[in-house]
Amino acid sequence: MLEALAESTSLCAGCPKMCRHVCPVSNAERRETTTPGVKMASVDLVRLGALPLDEHAAELMHACTGCGACAEFCLLGNEPAITLVQAREAAAAADVSPIARDVKERMRRSGNPTGSDLVALHKERVPVRPERGDLVYFPGCTALRRLPEHARDTVAAVEQCVGHEIAVVPPSEHVGCCGYPLWAAGLTEEFRTNARRMVTHLGGRGTVVTSDAGCAWTITKLYAEAGIRAPLQVLHTSQVFAQGRISKTSAEHSLWHDPCHLGRHLGIYDEPRRALAQAEGAEPHEFVWNREKSECCGGGALYPRANPAGALEAAHRRVNNETDELMRTGATRVVTSCPTCEVQLGRAGVRVFDLSRAVLGTAEQAPRSEGKR
Ligand code: SF4
Ligand code: SF4
Repeated sequence: MLEALAESTSLCAGCPKMCRHVCPVSNAERRETTTPGVKMASVDLVRLGALPLDEHAAELMHACTGCGACAEFCLLGNEPAITLVQAREAAAAADVSPIARDVKERMRRSGNPTGSDLVALHKERVPVRPERGDLVYFPGCTALRRLPEHARDTVAAVEQCVGHEIAVVPPSEHVGCCGYPLWAAGLTEEFRTNARRMVTHLGGRGTVVTSDAGCAWTITKLYAEAGIRAPLQVLHTSQVFAQGRISKTSAEHSLWHDPCHLGRHLGIYDEPRRALAQAEGAEPHEFVWNREKSECCGGGALYPRANPAGALEAAHRRVNNETDELMRTGATRVVTSCPTCEVQLGRAGVRVFDLSRAVLGTAEQAPRSEGKR
């Protein structure tokens, strides 16, 4: 398995590490060992048999949020975000990855990789709508589990923008999550099986719209890379908002956070800024590190499960690294459009809103539910 990654891992092993300063994980953990080049070189040593494939090797493979920031600074065109996650397949197969074991157990228990009863959460938190239409909303598991009002906000904001009622796709007992956690745990076969079920589940309902940048990326890019044909049109909510009608509803002036999966991975930068500018009547403020160079909130690729303290520190660093970003810009809040980013930045104590809530002009920050559900 690791032999297939040799070109990428050996490139980092012999490189002067041009990207080492941007990794949210090594910056949060303050460890040279978790810089992109050293993690990749370690995987290379495991491939060559110079290091064992054990829990320590798995820990380094999981010390990555998949943010892709390192690739922006790599003059050799290397992509540790993808390679480090692909390497996890070897750790899962050798049964040395506690995270893969945990995700498998959740899958066994609930039929989806989160371990939650997504059918019950959907009934409780998502408005009732037809299951087919021109636009069909797919909430994604992070929104369902962690943000009780997120689905209602999203449906209301999309309907306000397009001017009519939309449809909603409910989860079933066997398919409710796009499968990103399976991919991030290195459970490749389970990911493919879940992806096939999801494509069947979503197919023929209409254009899929999701507020979760990770779901949008998984369905449009990862399914294809895994050889799963997905004849689906998938839009992120920001793309719908950018084409719709938004009135100025808010006196806030926001700082826009680019989710890694929306920006670097899907190339969507202008649409959310356009929507936010309409809702607030002025261009949003920018972080020092923005667009392609944006810093990660620390929430991707199961890193919060691998190192909760490191993930929280990454979120703190995003908003208060070289400078307090709200104070520097004079912004009243952070706005983003990814449930994972919203949860992470919220955990760091920041006043953070989803783009849907900003479009609706809601003044209060959305509640989070951090329990086991
Ligand atoms: S990602 Fe590129 S710059 Fe970073 S260590 Fe690897 S080869 Fe070097
Ligand atoms: S993808 Fe992000 S977290 Fe992973 S090694 Fe690169 S910079 Fe670090």
